[in-house]
Amino acid sequence: DNDTLKQLCDDLDGIELSMEDRALQRYSKDFAWFSPVLVEQLRGKQAELVVKPASEEEVKRVAAACSRHGIPLTLRGSGTGNYGQSTPLKGGVLMDMSGLNEILWIENGVARVQAGARLVDIDKAAREKGWELRLMPSTYRLATAGGFYCGGFGGVGSITYGSIGDPGNVLGVRALSMAEQPQAIELRGAEARDLYHAYGVNGLITELEFALAPALDWQEVMLSFPAFMPAVNFCQALGSTCGTMKKLLTLLADPLPQMCGLEEKIPAGHTAVVAIVNRSGLDALHELREKFGGEMVEEQSHAEVFGTTKSMIEHSWNHTTLHIFRKHKDITYLQSGFRPWENVEKVERMHEHFGEEVMLHLEFLRADGAVTCSGLQVIRYSTEERLNEIIQFHRDNGVFVSNPHTYILEDGGKLTVDPGQLAMKRRLDPKGLLNPGKMRTWDEEAAA
Ligand code: FAD
Repeated sequence: DNDTLKQLCDDLDGIELSMEDRALQRYSKDFAWFSPVLVEQLRGKQAELVVKPASEEEVKRVAAACSRHGIPLTLRGSGTGNYGQSTPLKGGVLMDMSGLNEILWIENGVARVQAGARLVDIDKAAREKGWELRLMPSTYRLATAGGFYCGGFGGVGSITYGSIGDPGNVLGVRALSMAEQPQAIELRGAEARDLYHAYGVNGLITELEFALAPALDWQEVMLSFPAFMPAVNFCQALGSTCGTMKKLLTLLADPLPQMCGLEEKIPAGHTAVVAIVNRSGLDALHELREKFGGEMVEEQSHAEVFGTTKSMIEHSWNHTTLHIFRKHKDITYLQSGFRPWENVEKVERMHEHFGEEVMLHLEFLRADGAVTCSGLQVIRYSTEERLNEIIQFHRDNGVFVSNPHTYILEDGGKLTVDPGQLAMKRRLDPKGLLNPGKMRTWDEEAAA
């Protein structure tokens, strides 16, 4: 109520905050508009106060005050999540973490950063010392370190390094407990991974430690293939070669290039492939391109376009979906995972079965030590029943589908709670005040 909110504001004296309606609306939203289902479910869900701490001390004061008054607290990095992950379902306080943006140190292939630091800035700082980020989402120009770890999965770099949750990619985090006297703890390895992709429901991260990769001289290449399967086989082959280093390997089946802004570069009927490889690996790439009948459309230096909209990263991962959604209204999308060793065969099966109803956007990546692909399929939407049939057909054929039309942690992933995530919530958020309503298992236990 208003009195509690007033008291809270008094407690937070000296910290930047806002109760202006425009700020509340803006900070309570992310890119959930990708899903018509989520737009409806999240309508009107809004914070009552936005705070922007400038230091860990201030984060502690916010956590302490919310804990004392029993007020929900939801964290936000840059708000580029796709599932309303940082939208507060139960009002309360929205904490913008972007003020904690220091890059603390970069040494011996490791970067220690504050949670609100932007990935683009971390990468640039690492590069000055001969290193670079292993992984980043296509939203790297805005996305924060904490938001990526708590809300993301992978993206650029996944063809070599898998996901941000793979052991060894993030070495540790510093997290605060949600309590009247918040405690800071350093979590390493497996314990740190209990906060990975948990939407910030089980701890407030203030610092992260990323393992880096040696910086390479990357080239961005766009290719065009007259037929779909040779393009898939090209990607699988390039993805699997050991001598060429890779940062990105994206395939857009016809007619996606015509829909996402590549119509001037890729002829109608063709499949596009976007690859980022080390400069000295280009000859090997072209050998494979010729073998599979592709043509070179464009080539540019990655360093020259990194951090701008000219980079081909803008045609990968969910950026492709973004461009298509801006122009086409009658479509929706899926996120899926093909199992290693059978991915090429299953991709062919799905392509033959659905034709243009399910347009295949594939991102090649490494999982469990093998090269496979994930799908960000673009679907011509007819009815919800048909959408469910499409999802079921994939599942019946052993293709994992993670539903992008839900804000519930379990439903968007493996459908069951991760016991480590739940245990961490008991430890760091025993009152259940962090981003409430997102972890179904917790809510069911609380109700029982
Ligand atoms: P936010 O959206 O602000 O937050 C994400 C989640 O983390 C929220 O639940 C929030 O509460 C929590 N959180 C934020 N900071 C903290 C903290 N310090 N402590 C605890 N919890 C915290 N994702 C990918 O993985 N790969 C992609 O390639 C990719 N491409 C995308 C393309 C587009 C066009 C869009 C719209 C989204 C894409 N995403 C992708 C999703 C999203 O952009 C990324 O996951 C991004 O890393 C999120 O960072 P953020 O700072 O915006 O986080």
